[in-house]
Amino acid sequence: MSRYPFNHSHVVIDRDRLRSNARYLHRNLAPGVKSIAVIKADAYGHGAVEIARTLEAYYDMYAVANVTEAVILREAGIIHPILVFGVPVLKTAGAYREFDLIAVVSSEEHFDLLEAGTVYHVEIDSGMGRLGMPPDRLDQIEQLIGASGKIICQGVMSHFATADEQSSGHLARQKDILHDIRAVFGEKYPIHAANSAASLNHPETHCDMVRHGIAMYGYDPSPIPSDQLHPVMSWISWIAQCKRVKKGTPLSYGATWQAPADGHYAVVPIGYADGFRRNLSGKMPVSVEGHWYPQVGRVTMDYIMIWLGGDTYVPGTEVLVMGSDRNHAGKWAEAIGTIPYEICCGIHPKVPRVMSGQS
Ligand SMILES: *Cc1c(COP(=O)(O)O)cnc(C)c1O
Repeated sequence: MSRYPFNHSHVVIDRDRLRSNARYLHRNLAPGVKSIAVIKADAYGHGAVEIARTLEAYYDMYAVANVTEAVILREAGIIHPILVFGVPVLKTAGAYREFDLIAVVSSEEHFDLLEAGTVYHVEIDSGMGRLGMPPDRLDQIEQLIGASGKIICQGVMSHFATADEQSSGHLARQKDILHDIRAVFGEKYPIHAANSAASLNHPETHCDMVRHGIAMYGYDPSPIPSDQLHPVMSWISWIAQCKRVKKGTPLSYGATWQAPADGHYAVVPIGYADGFRRNLSGKMPVSVEGHWYPQVGRVTMDYIMIWLGGDTYVPGTEVLVMGSDRNHAGKWAEAIGTIPYEICCGIHPKVPRVMSGQS
């Protein structure tokens, strides 16, 4: 920690919105269907520990990408069941029992690798083309589970590649395989496959449990998004300097933008080192005290410039750079041709996450 802790920006996490999204997502689940909150990648950049603390009453289980993320939650006192999506390796094999984590067995050798008494779910690759055991060997997989008395199977999972697309033939094929998986394993183990998009739009895929990620954070992955989910994250910086310039004055690297009139611009201490993407230069508006202003010129490592026209503000005035209807992470993603997942995860870990709303 620096002797002079000081932040140029902070991310605000709205717990009330998070809970409201979670409630909405649970509304279309049949009674008895359980739910997993996916809080990998530091809860998609929102801060996994606080998100976990907030969601305990809403979800039966948490899921993370690897053992490191899971241990951080345990050391922070999170006692909910934690499913670790990633691949167990020799180095991490002991951690599942030590920290009471649920492994995902996605390859035959994992049966030997995991310590006796480890609880696990088996992953079948129904067409995601990533992790999981091949679906043409369901009977052999069932035998492997039966033969491996030393570790304890508590679920069977799969993952969709195209659940967020409209009328996907690939999803139809994956659903057929899911049907086979249910036929072989359905009596014995809880089955889960649905991510946010499938949970919202394909109730026939819910099986015994669903896994919610992006929608919980407020971004609807559906082809036709509803207006029921609200971004949980906003990102705030402040005006470092406000300057008056003459019409035609160029701003920032490359001198690509010139003032359209005599007026004021503000320098805001946030840049691509913080996760304010450089290819967003000139594309997103920001808001100051409820007024909207364009970000102009190139985004630099530690600063952006915004054009205030005739307005001025005192240094220290807050600037909402991300989070409202006009500039939330979904809008950022649209502007630069990516997905909100990548925008949220891309906010640098040095930027503090601050909780708001009822604790
Ligand atoms: C990330 C992930 C999810 C969550 O997906 P969303 O689209 O964010 O809901 C679910 N399952 C697995 C295996 C994942 O890796």
